[in-house]
Amino acid sequence: MTKFVTMDTSRDKFHDECGVFGFYNNDDFDIAAITHDALYGLQHRGQISAGMTVNDGGSFTTVKELGMISEVFTPQVMKKIPNGRASIGHVRYTASQSLDRAANQPLVLRYMKGSLAIASNGVISNFAEIRKELERGGSIFQSNSNAELMAYVIATNRCVTDSIEQAVLKSMNEMKGSYSTVICAPESLIAFRDIHGFRPLCLGKLKNSYIIASESCAIDTVGGEFVRDIEPGEMIVINDEGIKRYHQNNKSDVTSLCIFEFVYIARPDSEIDGVSVFTARLKAGELLYKEYPLDADMVCGVPDSGLIAAEGYSKASGLPLGMGFMKNKFITKNVGTGMEKKKRLMQTKLRALKSNVSGKRIIVIDDSIVRGMTSKHIVKLLRDAGAKEVHVLISSPPFIDECYFGTDIHDRSTLIANNMTVEEIREEICADSLGYLSIESLHKSVEGTSVSLCDGCFTSKYKAEVPTTFFVDKYANKIRNK
Ligand code: SF4
Repeated sequence: MTKFVTMDTSRDKFHDECGVFGFYNNDDFDIAAITHDALYGLQHRGQISAGMTVNDGGSFTTVKELGMISEVFTPQVMKKIPNGRASIGHVRYTASQSLDRAANQPLVLRYMKGSLAIASNGVISNFAEIRKELERGGSIFQSNSNAELMAYVIATNRCVTDSIEQAVLKSMNEMKGSYSTVICAPESLIAFRDIHGFRPLCLGKLKNSYIIASESCAIDTVGGEFVRDIEPGEMIVINDEGIKRYHQNNKSDVTSLCIFEFVYIARPDSEIDGVSVFTARLKAGELLYKEYPLDADMVCGVPDSGLIAAEGYSKASGLPLGMGFMKNKFITKNVGTGMEKKKRLMQTKLRALKSNVSGKRIIVIDDSIVRGMTSKHIVKLLRDAGAKEVHVLISSPPFIDECYFGTDIHDRSTLIANNMTVEEIREEICADSLGYLSIESLHKSVEGTSVSLCDGCFTSKYKAEVPTTFFVDKYANKIRNK
């Protein structure tokens, strides 16, 4: 059956490109059920497609489809997935190839050394160079996905190395950019994180079994115990002999975990590289009060990622925290195209709570402003509901530049802060006042991470090489235009 899926563009937000999961079954767990449940814990990282591969004695069963986890893994489908020794799972978000089924993951490759299933989160920044090289050698690709390219690189290297471990390490040295990846090989489960550590990846345990996940909340979801974060440049190999760790040989002095994971992308019940996402958001709210000590009748957050910063602001200021909005959680998609669709989706998804905001001076806190559409809509909702004043505070600095490392902001000209001053943005969104958290305070809010952080989209200073030929889309356009 053909499923048509449209993505939620109601909020002009950065989106991350995926969540990954892996399980090595040393007990007698129902591996499909565990993978399914854990993927629910990662659904916020991607809603375009979901998939899992189960390795049952070297035989791989893969189920993947466009749609949310509940749509892809129906009870009928779940019954057909065999139990196995290892599994990997994936949820995908992508701005551009949303309906491209070939980009769904896990991606399974059958080559001269056996089978390989791969699921990845991130973007290979030297994608175009590697792909051209492989194509010159006769490789044919079915999609523009990073995972497919990775699978080719690893399979090619496996043919000239003695083991899958060596092949992956060699590939990590060749691939630049961001990637937190899981692989199901015939006899092992492998997980690795790029040398800069842009995207999170962690290790957990459930009895004697091992878990790999993009975020610790997925480990908690299946009742597991968080063990540790996988280090930038580290590879973990789990098989019948136990667990082994390796490090990529070319070292980087500069790690670069995405700071925006703490602001918006990750779930608040996750801990990333030693810092709780919830605590970071709470602190950001407290620091917002230090920078903008406003007077008002109520503080509220824009659901969901503005709620915790609003709590922090309320705690620091003593101003009452209230509910300003009702979010319809059942709406994740709608039909139609273009601006009309976005407008309708915004209208149906979020409503202001008239009985709680009418006649009040409101401070409303959101995590970010990308294009400004959402903020303008939020201010209008509050005013239409009778708010006397609307002051907008943002728990991150203005976005001024592109992200090359795994989110979908590829064009700086679309960023409102790149085209307008803060005062002009305030006017544009019709707020009584507008304030952004400073970059210094944002860093303070995440103090204590075991790695250093990327803040490139806020500062235009990137700690990793910025690609010259970059995006998969641009590459695809080049192919089409030739
Ligand atoms: S550029 Fe921004 S969104 Fe991209 S990895 Fe760096 S901090 Fe994260």
